[in-house]
Amino acid sequence: MFELPEFVTLAAQINQTVSGKVIGQGVLGNTPHRFVWYNQSPAEFGRLTKGKTVGGARARGKWLFVALEPGYVLLFGECGGKMLYHAPGAKRPAKYHLSLEFNDDSGFTATTQMWGAMELHEAGQEQNRQYVKGMRPTPVDPEFTFDYFSGLIATEGNKRTAKSLLTQEQLIPGLGNAIAQDILFRARLHPRHPVDNLTKAQQRKLYTAIVKTVQAVVKQGGRYDEVDLFNEAGGYIRLMDQEATRRPCPECGGRVEKMAYLGGACYFCPRCQT
Ligand SMILES: [Zn+2]
Repeated sequence: MFELPEFVTLAAQINQTVSGKVIGQGVLGNTPHRFVWYNQSPAEFGRLTKGKTVGGARARGKWLFVALEPGYVLLFGECGGKMLYHAPGAKRPAKYHLSLEFNDDSGFTATTQMWGAMELHEAGQEQNRQYVKGMRPTPVDPEFTFDYFSGLIATEGNKRTAKSLLTQEQLIPGLGNAIAQDILFRARLHPRHPVDNLTKAQQRKLYTAIVKTVQAVVKQGGRYDEVDLFNEAGGYIRLMDQEATRRPCPECGGRVEKMAYLGGACYFCPRCQT
């Protein structure tokens, strides 16, 4: 699944490569998928996208906004899989959930693995969508300061664990189970560590781990197990994932453990993370 850094990477690449292109044909899903959320019929999507120009793209949390000018915004959210640019003449994937063919014979397809929203809204209306409306500051926003983070723990941290703070209820939008593992390792916190007893110093360490980890993944174009707009794997090697259980902890040399907890496997070092 894409998390904030992958969406930031995709947005930057769309801005560089796709913005300015004129849509010849927009198609929704040539392959049925129960868990892709559309808000338009295929016919309406085709009618509304035809002749529109791709404008700017931006990411917020686990959502990607792509302007289709004039007047519309294409919204992708909570999805994984592949969002790909196709050069003129390049082979398109056999299956996709959304496709845009441009007047210069290049194209774009989106194919999700598990689920995800692929919606077309009148510009402005996308801000009223559930999960977008009222979204809290994300780790790449200037509002995501230490004071803000400390306040978030004070109001939402009661009886909550570290992993829960990072991955549940969009308290910190854009973080998912994958990046949370590395954040918790850098903060030296066990996934089940209660956040309401963190000292200020531990809060600071966790805050720094969130911001630095997100920045590191963005800088390297996403995680190594996801691909970008050009079908290239990201450069960020995860510290704590399935692979990590086969090698010693990078800090203490101890054994990295796997534990199922809160919707997804946790990988952690029980000696370093307490
Ligand atoms: Zn360790």
